Amino acid sequence: MGHHTLTDKIPEKILANFIGGEFSSEGKLFENINPRDGSTISQAVEADASAVDRAVSAASAALEGEWGATSPALRSRFLHLIADGIEHRFDEFVSAEVADTGKDLGHARTIDIPRSMANFRTYAELIGSSKGESIHEIGADGSVTLNYTIRRPLGVVAAIAPWNLPLLLLTWKVAPALACGNSVIAKPSELTPTTATLLAEVISDAGLPDGAFNLLHGFGGGSAGELLAGHRGVDAISFTGSSATGASIMRLASETVKPVSFELGGKNAAIIFKDCDFDQAVNGSVRSAFSNCGQVCLSTERIYVERPIYDSFVSAMKERAESIVLGGAEDNTENMGPLVSDEHRRKVAGYFDLAVQEGATVVTGNEIPSFDDERKKGFYVRPTIWTGLREDARCLHEEVFGPVCHVAPFDDEAEAVRLANNTQYGLATAIWTQNLGQAHRVAAKMETGIVWVNSWFLRHLQTPFGGMKLSGVGREGGRHSMDFYSQPSNICVKS
Ligand code: NAD
Repeated sequence: MGHHTLTDKIPEKILANFIGGEFSSEGKLFENINPRDGSTISQAVEADASAVDRAVSAASAALEGEWGATSPALRSRFLHLIADGIEHRFDEFVSAEVADTGKDLGHARTIDIPRSMANFRTYAELIGSSKGESIHEIGADGSVTLNYTIRRPLGVVAAIAPWNLPLLLLTWKVAPALACGNSVIAKPSELTPTTATLLAEVISDAGLPDGAFNLLHGFGGGSAGELLAGHRGVDAISFTGSSATGASIMRLASETVKPVSFELGGKNAAIIFKDCDFDQAVNGSVRSAFSNCGQVCLSTERIYVERPIYDSFVSAMKERAESIVLGGAEDNTENMGPLVSDEHRRKVAGYFDLAVQEGATVVTGNEIPSFDDERKKGFYVRPTIWTGLREDARCLHEEVFGPVCHVAPFDDEAEAVRLANNTQYGLATAIWTQNLGQAHRVAAKMETGIVWVNSWFLRHLQTPFGGMKLSGVGREGGRHSMDFYSQPSNICVKS
């Protein structure tokens, strides 16, 4: 892992689709834009209906052929080879992720790319660990039956991923899907196509049988995403993205009753109790509200603070938010990159206006900065803290997906629980307290798939990950992923 600078550029090139073991650049091109300066990084090939058909045929053929016959041990070997291949080209992956997303180098280097490698290594180790069940029964007539289950792959799995953690979230699906013996058609976000293309190169070099892994670039509605989700030859869909897109994919999937695994949006709360470790709670909340420019599904956008420490907490957050440097140096995680696109910045700026209309007090930020250096063409916004909104304000119920949080006081535990749960989302909660009893009591009442106590984004890859309510369907992670990407078949033998 050599030294890297943000000025390293990937050579301008065409990002091709990868279908049946071949790179294919037939089709319309679309631009891949660098959010730091608005420049064009590369062009990607939009997969049309015929490319989607070809990918589905190649993926089905792989299951009938060499890939369908691989042993778990060989699949484990392939997954290790893929992880090694990413590690071998680590710097290239890091530069590509930084260029496509605008995120700070430290984030890409310590989270995005290492975690992507870990995804392959984790499932390489877990292959074969799914246990079947057996029931041995002696009937009244003395007959003996044995029921036992084996697990079979789902078939052709579509993996549709978002742009905020592009390779990490794509490999979170691709690794267990391949581990279980499925063939995969990956569709990265149109905003971040590069690392998925590098992954296809690595997979090709690792020698996976043709069609086991396919990559299609393109947009969602009316393009590759929708064509894939509605395709009769796709057997299951694993999707991470917004709840609205999840709802449309569910409609498309219903035609052929495809199993779905959905990791969707969040409007996550933090509860800060008065006996927390104050500095730890401030540090954790600064990270959870502003890291990756607030573009993490687990980000905290609502912070509830026990009244005795409310004022000092708001001032500490303000001071920290104002010390964040936009753009700037590479390895400093205190710095913040831009939002992913101009369109997303318009959405976030829309919430800046709405917050004011809804009566928010702007503690800091709430604006698009102006620069006279190379950042002037980037999609930056200032880290933003609001207070004073009514509980029913739209800004407290809609996911902004930017570096934005609202801080409000509470007076007792029951009120904190009620406020934190007052949302249609249910992804994650962060609780900050030194009181162990309180931590357990409150954690168990949170209507979210994930609760952190005195931390945030601390992930063991084998724990269940996913959301309640509008935040998703199902859980992935460790055996939960193995359970989704394979299905039991009961075999009943009468003697
Ligand atoms: P998005 O829903 O706009 O797009 C996600 C992917 O779906 C992209 O590849 C896109 O091309 C595709 N897509 C869009 N419309 C489609 C359609 N009609 N049919 C099929 N595919 C379609 O989401 P985004 O803007 O890329 O990502 C941000 C969202 O993702 C936020 O809501 C965030 O909370 C969520 N997210 C959730 C998690 C999680 O684990 N719960 C993780 C990261 C991001």
